[in-house]
Amino acid sequence: MSDKKGFTTTILHSDRLLKPEHGALHQPIHTAVTWGFDDVQGLVNVFQNKAKGYAYSRQGNPTVTALEHKVTQMENGMATIGFSTGMAAITASILALLKQGDHIIASSYLFGNSRSIMQTLSDVGLQFSFVDATSVDEVKAAYQPNTRMVFVETIANPATQVADLARIGDFCADKGLIYMVDNTMTSPYLFKPVSVKASLVINSLTKYIGGHANALGGSVTDTGLFDWTKFDNIAPILREQIKPAMQGMAQIRKRGLRDGGGTLAPEAAHNISVGSETLALRLDRACGNAAALAKFLETHPLVSKVYYPGLESHPQHDLAKQLFSRFGGLMSFALKDGVDTFAFLNHLQLVVKSSNLGDTRTLAIPVAHTIFFELGAERRAEMGIPDSMVRLSVGIEDTDDLIGDFAQALELVK
Ligand SMILES: *Cc1c(COP(=O)(O)O)cnc(C)c1O
Repeated sequence: MSDKKGFTTTILHSDRLLKPEHGALHQPIHTAVTWGFDDVQGLVNVFQNKAKGYAYSRQGNPTVTALEHKVTQMENGMATIGFSTGMAAITASILALLKQGDHIIASSYLFGNSRSIMQTLSDVGLQFSFVDATSVDEVKAAYQPNTRMVFVETIANPATQVADLARIGDFCADKGLIYMVDNTMTSPYLFKPVSVKASLVINSLTKYIGGHANALGGSVTDTGLFDWTKFDNIAPILREQIKPAMQGMAQIRKRGLRDGGGTLAPEAAHNISVGSETLALRLDRACGNAAALAKFLETHPLVSKVYYPGLESHPQHDLAKQLFSRFGGLMSFALKDGVDTFAFLNHLQLVVKSSNLGDTRTLAIPVAHTIFFELGAERRAEMGIPDSMVRLSVGIEDTDDLIGDFAQALELVK
């Protein structure tokens, strides 16, 4: 057998190959906050980055390490750091690496809270330009001498714009910029950002990777492609103590995780780890359901528009086809003028009115009134979000049941 196994095989056997005690097939949940050393030199070595080991659970825990290893394998990356949430991973990574006056080019089609934290970070001295990341030309036009990072998502939520991922990757490599790609919507099963030269990959583990809406978590993965020796912001002590490839991760683990404190709980890491074993199976099923539902909605007389990269009518359909193995489980749609969106949603019987995504269950939410409410009408219009937009996170129900639920709810608001 070859060393390189398939996606699911690798996840299933990842814990076991780390040899947990008694031949356990799952890495145990280590609830210890702190670890003791027989010889004080051992403790000193861990503190001085001279030996691997655990000292205090805020910056490292064996249960979390096992999950980090899994995510690294899923992403074909070099190393991963787990966080309490996806937002903690994003915030800590940016804060750990950038300084006042540094400039970030970010997609204008971002997860609402990502957009909002960037607003907060700009209030304390980072500079942001928000651009239409479906075209690399917009990214190039925003480039400044102090640009340090480009931040994009793969498929944007809720309007499903697909970023010009490969060409932006070439541009970042050319300019020596950190290319941070939030892979939450596609997950490493549908897309590996390392394939488009990403430097750092964000995943909200809460979503598809955990998959069951029973644990919060986030991660950042270093793909190994970025040359940290050319990055001015690495702390001098880490330059001395840490080998060049790991300097970025060391700085994120120390400044972002240890000092920031957004630590992934070991119980959550365990739930996410178990959930991740079926990532491929769940996503295959969700993508199939999403494709069927998108077709059904696109031809329904009460529906004015469907946003799904798998549809030929989607503006970046060809790009999505080149980049992703399938088109994901997220879609949005708008009802025709005069149809009561809330009444329609209230008639749904299986589909849950909920704000999460990446769950096994299908979830629906009216976008303008909830997740994008705080942005205001003007910003929503800029982002292409009509008031009647409904976002769906398509789950793994039986396809006929799902389409049947939409059909009956639409019938009742005709
Ligand atoms: C949900 C989400 C996040 C944040 O993840 P949390 O785990 O909820 O903090 C970040 N990016 C995207 C694209 C998301 O969908």
